[in-house]
Amino acid sequence: MTDVLDAPATLRPISHWIAGGPSAGRSGRSGPVFNPATGRQTGEVDFAAVEDVDRAVQAAKAAFPAWRSLSLAKRAELMFAIRELVHERREEIAKILTAEHGKVLSDAMGEVTRGLEVIEFCCGIPQLLKGGMTEQASTGVDVYSIRQPLGVVAGITPFNFPAMVPMWMWAPALACGNTFVLKPSEKDPSASVYTAELLKEAGVPDGVFNVIHGDKVAVDALLTHPDVSAVSFVGSTPIARYVYETATAHGKRCQALGGAKNHMVVLPDADIDMAADAAVSAAYGSAGERCMAVSVVVAVGDVADPLIDAIRERIPNVKIGDGMDPSSEMGPLVTREHRDKVASYLEDGGGTVLVDGRASCPDEGFFLAPSLIDGLQPGMRAYDDEIFGPVLGVTRVATYDEAVRLVNESPYGNGTAIFTRDGGAARQFQFEAQAGMVGINVPIPVPVAYYSFGGWKSSLFGDRHIYGPEGIDFYTRSKVVTSRWPDPATSKVDLGFPQTR
Ligand code: NAD
Repeated sequence: MTDVLDAPATLRPISHWIAGGPSAGRSGRSGPVFNPATGRQTGEVDFAAVEDVDRAVQAAKAAFPAWRSLSLAKRAELMFAIRELVHERREEIAKILTAEHGKVLSDAMGEVTRGLEVIEFCCGIPQLLKGGMTEQASTGVDVYSIRQPLGVVAGITPFNFPAMVPMWMWAPALACGNTFVLKPSEKDPSASVYTAELLKEAGVPDGVFNVIHGDKVAVDALLTHPDVSAVSFVGSTPIARYVYETATAHGKRCQALGGAKNHMVVLPDADIDMAADAAVSAAYGSAGERCMAVSVVVAVGDVADPLIDAIRERIPNVKIGDGMDPSSEMGPLVTREHRDKVASYLEDGGGTVLVDGRASCPDEGFFLAPSLIDGLQPGMRAYDDEIFGPVLGVTRVATYDEAVRLVNESPYGNGTAIFTRDGGAARQFQFEAQAGMVGINVPIPVPVAYYSFGGWKSSLFGDRHIYGPEGIDFYTRSKVVTSRWPDPATSKVDLGFPQTR
């Protein structure tokens, strides 16, 4: 796998991983994988046919009975072994991420670390799967609840966190006793294959974790496959809605996390430097390709001018370059098409462009430097759309109430943040903001692994958030057992409805 990093002279083929080993696709279709920092193609990834998906699902189905029967002690031991390996190889994983996604190495290391936290949470699976027990619920009758795995579950993931988002899914799914088929983004698929190699090395039995690559053909085959019990999806809102509707129409449990437009409200009493540091970090980190990126700063009252000045001051200091260079702070965007789409908001997105990132980009690769637009309003393209790039908008409002109205009228409800020194205002914001994750002086409030991650409104289809306690809930179903051990001598026929006594 380290050949991802060696800039091979020939294109590296990237195959599926089925039943414990690489498996070439049989569809004859494939797609290019680029190094976004150079713009050059480095790999060619197989696109699965329906038949390839079926092979992966059948491998997972065959592995399920033994995997679910493994004791919790043994499964926990394996989770610890996986944790150790991922921790040991975190730099290799990070380099694979940088080579295909483009994010800078320090950011890629951060991605792996946040994913590791979810694996660490799953090491406690015996505690997490503890059920409830009531002794003597009725005379001589005990009642207890247990949680059991679903079977074969599928994960479909976006390009922007090629290691962490799959970890949000496979770690709890496997710990709960399910077997897994992952369909990662076709733009940066190598981290998933490397993960499969690591899980095998850790001792996970063949067929428990499978990877199939591809596009809509692979996704549709998973969504409609009769042997897939549940689907976790993370990606853009239109596809999330489609995945949720199709999976549930085919009788599957589904959680589908969608896109976002995260507002950062800055009140007049906020510390301007702290708010500007946070806005620049959260808007331009990972080139804005984070579902929790700050996309709009809502400047309340007279804070707008000094805040914009402070943001503008910081922008030229953001060092743009190849993510492999340790001095780079912001890398390229993932593809040329995406870079061009993001840049189009500087052309005709609305508002006043204060900083145009097209003016200061490296010649090669898919770069766009940090950009800033003032005066955005609902109805303007750059305000309404999830741009998913290093373009920060500013919307000026007169009051706190107007700011909250903007947050709550957004069709998205992933994250939002408030910057203030007023505890009462912050508490009021926490109470009334319609979003799944709220930051108070924290611009990217991604929950720690023992809480769950997820948005509201068009940022989530389904009723369970991902990882943490809700993740355990999603990947298991409950069973309630009512038991008694009566003296056979007391047995008699009784056609009445069972009553407690
Ligand atoms: P995307 O929706 O284009 O792709 C996500 C997955 O769906 C990929 O595996 C892709 O192959 C597949 N897919 C794409 N088109 C499809 C189609 N027509 N039918 C079936 N499957 C299809 O998303 P992306 O561009 O890879 O990722 C960026 C998006 O993901 C952004 O909108 C971002 O906000 C979102 N995201 C959300 C979260 C969250 O937690 N809410 C986290 C990360 C990313």
